[in-house]
Amino acid sequence: MQDALEDADVYRTLLESTRAIPWKIDWATMRFAYIGPQIEALLGWPQGSWTTVEDWATRMHPEDRARVVDFCVAQSQAGVDHEADYRAMTRDGHYVWIRDVVHVVRNAEGEVQSLVGFMFDISERKKAEEELLRLHRELEQLSMTDGLTGIANRRMFDTRLGTEWKEARRSGQPLSLVILDIDCFKQYNDAHGHVAGDECLKRIAGMLGALARRPRDVVARFGGEEFILLLPDTDENAVRGIAQACVDGVAQLRIPHGDSEVHDVVTASLGVGTARPDGDTTAREFLAGVDRLLYAAKSGGRNRIETGNWHRPSAAR
Ligand code: GH3
Ligand code: MG
Ligand code: MG
Repeated sequence: MQDALEDADVYRTLLESTRAIPWKIDWATMRFAYIGPQIEALLGWPQGSWTTVEDWATRMHPEDRARVVDFCVAQSQAGVDHEADYRAMTRDGHYVWIRDVVHVVRNAEGEVQSLVGFMFDISERKKAEEELLRLHRELEQLSMTDGLTGIANRRMFDTRLGTEWKEARRSGQPLSLVILDIDCFKQYNDAHGHVAGDECLKRIAGMLGALARRPRDVVARFGGEEFILLLPDTDENAVRGIAQACVDGVAQLRIPHGDSEVHDVVTASLGVGTARPDGDTTAREFLAGVDRLLYAAKSGGRNRIETGNWHRPSAAR
C-alpha cells in the first residue's frame, strides 16, 4: 500500500513537471477530473477554473472551435484516439497554439469511460510553419516576376496563356495578344549604355503595366526588349485601340534615341492578333502567328502595328 502511494506521488511529480500539460475528462459528466497545474503558466487560467468541457471549448479561438469540438466529440464517441491543433485563449486575451493528444479510455465492456490527454505548446512550431509558408509564397511570387521591371515574366505569361486559352475555348470569347518589340534597341544600348537601356525597359514596362485595366489582363516581359499583353475577352476592335495606346505611350515617353534608324526617340513595333480558339488550334500556334506579324511590322519599316486576321494556321496559309 505504501509502495502504491509512493508510486502515485512519483507519477504525479512526473506529470506535473513535464512541459506537456496532462488532463482527464470524465465522459459521463463531461467534467475535468484533473488538469495539470502547468496550465496556469501557459494560459493564465488557474488550475481550479477548468471545470467542464465547456471551459475548454469557450477558451478556444472562435475560428477553431466548431471544427475542433465537432472532431474531438466524434472521435471520442467512436472511441478513437486522436489529436487536434487549435488556438487556446490566454487569460489576457492572446492565443497560444496547442496540440491536444487524446486517448480514449474504455471499461471492460468497451464503453467510453474517460478521456485522458496531453496539451503541447506548439506556438514555436506554428510560427516556423507560417514563416515557411510566407517564404514559399514570396518565392512563388518572385519566380513569376521579372527582376528588372517588376512586371510578370515569361513563365507567368506561359501559365496564364494556357489558362486563358482553355477559358476562351470554353466561353467562345475572343482572346487577343499584343507583342511589342523595341526598335533598334541594340543601337540604343551602344549609344547610351546598358544602364540607360535598363531604365528605358523599366519605363516602357511601367507604361504598359498601366494599360492592363482588367483583372485578367497580363502584361509580361517576354524576352530582352520584348513585351507581351494577354487580353482575355478582347476582340479585334478593342485590341486595336490597346495596341495604339501602346504605340502612343512609347511615343509620349519621349526617350531620346541617338542612333535609331526610325526616329530620334525610342519607338516600338507591334504584332497584334485575336483568336477564337477551337479544338484544332493551340495557344503555341497563335503565339507563333502573332510573332510572325511582329516580324512583318519590323520588315515593313518598324514603328508600326501589324494586325493579322489570324484564325488558325490553315486559314493563314
Ligand atoms: P529591331 O529593331 O529589329 O528589334 O532591333 P533590336 O536592336 O531592337 O533587336 P536585337 O534583337 O538585335 O537586339 C536586342 C537588344 O536588346 C540586344 C540586347 O543587348 C538588348 N537587351 C536585351 N535585354 C536587355 C536588358 O535587360 N537590358 C538592356 N540594357 N538591354 C537588353
Ligand atoms: Mg527583339
Ligand atoms: Mg528590338
